[in-house]
Amino acid sequence: MKQLSENSIRVLEERYLVQDHSGKVIETPEEMFLRVAKKVASAELKWGKQKDADYWEGQFFRMMSELDFLPNSTTLMNAGTGYGQLSACFVLPVRDSLSGIFDTLKMAALVQQKGGGTGFNFSKLRPKGDRVSKHGGTSSGPVSFLELFNFSSDHVKQGGKRLGANMGIMNVDHPDIFEFMRLGSKENRVRHFNLSVGITDQFMKHLETDKPWSLINPRTQKVLNKVSPKAIWEELIFGAWESGNPGVIFLDTINSKNPTPNQGEIQATNPCGEVPLLPYESCNLGSINLTHFIKSAKGKSIPDWERIGEIIPMAVRFLDNVIEVNHFPNSKIKKATLSNRKIGLGVMGWADFLIQLGIPYGSQEAVDLGEELMRFINEKSHLASQELAKKRGSFPNWEESVFAPHTPIRNATLTSIAPTGTISLIANTSSSIEPLFALAFERRNVLGEETLQTIQPQVLNFLQEKGLLSEELKQKIAEDGTCADSHELSEKDKAILQTATEIDPIWHLKHQVAFQKFTDNAVSKTINLPASTKPEDIGEIYLQAWKEGVKGLTVFRTDSGREQMLYPGLKT
Ligand code: ADP
Repeated sequence: MKQLSENSIRVLEERYLVQDHSGKVIETPEEMFLRVAKKVASAELKWGKQKDADYWEGQFFRMMSELDFLPNSTTLMNAGTGYGQLSACFVLPVRDSLSGIFDTLKMAALVQQKGGGTGFNFSKLRPKGDRVSKHGGTSSGPVSFLELFNFSSDHVKQGGKRLGANMGIMNVDHPDIFEFMRLGSKENRVRHFNLSVGITDQFMKHLETDKPWSLINPRTQKVLNKVSPKAIWEELIFGAWESGNPGVIFLDTINSKNPTPNQGEIQATNPCGEVPLLPYESCNLGSINLTHFIKSAKGKSIPDWERIGEIIPMAVRFLDNVIEVNHFPNSKIKKATLSNRKIGLGVMGWADFLIQLGIPYGSQEAVDLGEELMRFINEKSHLASQELAKKRGSFPNWEESVFAPHTPIRNATLTSIAPTGTISLIANTSSSIEPLFALAFERRNVLGEETLQTIQPQVLNFLQEKGLLSEELKQKIAEDGTCADSHELSEKDKAILQTATEIDPIWHLKHQVAFQKFTDNAVSKTINLPASTKPEDIGEIYLQAWKEGVKGLTVFRTDSGREQMLYPGLKT
């Protein structure tokens, strides 16, 4: 088993390791990995013998305890504990009736209680002020119901372990869209929600020619108002500039890649955007720690393609098993999830991987490698799922899917790039495909308490290997969180150690585009922007993202209102 960092142990003790009734931790990290491996491997008994389950238990234990691969937090926390809800991601529909809204609210509370995140599209709700009954009542509108959902999340604290997370979406043709877009602003924060406007291709075409845009009452399908698409766009990018909310999701791009179009349109994603799902679907995620897949050849560090190729089928098998042993909160979620069996395999540690390889994040070389890597992961994942289908069968909706009739496959989707907010802490590596936020950082946990202050381990290694690690430089990096002004480093080294806001936003987007090309689900990415960024710059990024086939994105401008989880440098 890999030695865990102090930070990792602390996170595990706070939230993952089993505790007794008095809150005392009664499990070691090793026992946690064993618990998860045993539970997930027990799925093998459905098709094989005890010796198969034992074999896979060993394989799963090894890949987790070596920190080569980790499943999403909910699987680590809940597998084998009797809680049993293992998926991180859910989408629930919101119907236009009071009982429908409260049914969904209840379902969401139960999902969140056990650690899942929920996404909703509120566009089916009639607008504020619309009539409710023949007797003259009026609706308080979707935004007020979103606030109600937020209030509920305030009170479901997942056993005090972390705060609930939601995605709230409103489509760009809803009459209340302006009110929705102002919801994220500083004074009016809905803190448990990420907000996204559901954008259509048709809207983008109207925007290009400034052709009036219709806002439609979803109850009557009547046009309530015609507005300038530019007015919507300006409000959207101003909100993003001011507070990081709303982001965007591109509904037509998502649906053009929907593997089961006959099951209906996808209208929403999970909280961080990496999994577009049909109503009631859930999805479980897992991420490969790229920093463990590097080898040295002729004195140079290069990706270890062979070992990456070996872990992919194991990870796919693991995630398919998770669906098998999962406990679903209710029969609707169970049915929808088991019909398509979506999983999301992705990566973490991409920025650290690039540092190890000596490639600057802001370079075409990095973008090309990202594309090559994700193509490899996606292809191998599909092959692994096809292999599983031979014995286990294709997912039940397969006959109506884009894969039929020629390609039997076990899972309707295989890949996602998740934020890996907590599992990257456990693996002690950079999160997801994000560049380093800072070279040194103080990290606060989701409950807002302080955790350890540290210089990024990969940065220390890099400087050490180059013989550049003076006490003075260490001190400076710790204080500033960057090495941009250092006299000791070459321009190339500085480029390799550039942080998220120092990297030109266009490179952020290029990485997202490169990974999205070969990701079945979506890529959760925040484009970090310097404080001086103007709203128009954000508009350009959104426009480019749409043109390049990104499924959705958010921006985060330094000094904007959104709560930050990471603080650059140790000074702050
Ligand atoms: P982790 O590192 O904890 O596995 P990620 O940061 O990769 O999680 O997030 C993956 C998904 O897990 C999110 O998109 C969301 O669906 C869910 N999730 C993350 N944080 C929370 C939270 N605080 N509450 C509920 N769900 C969450």
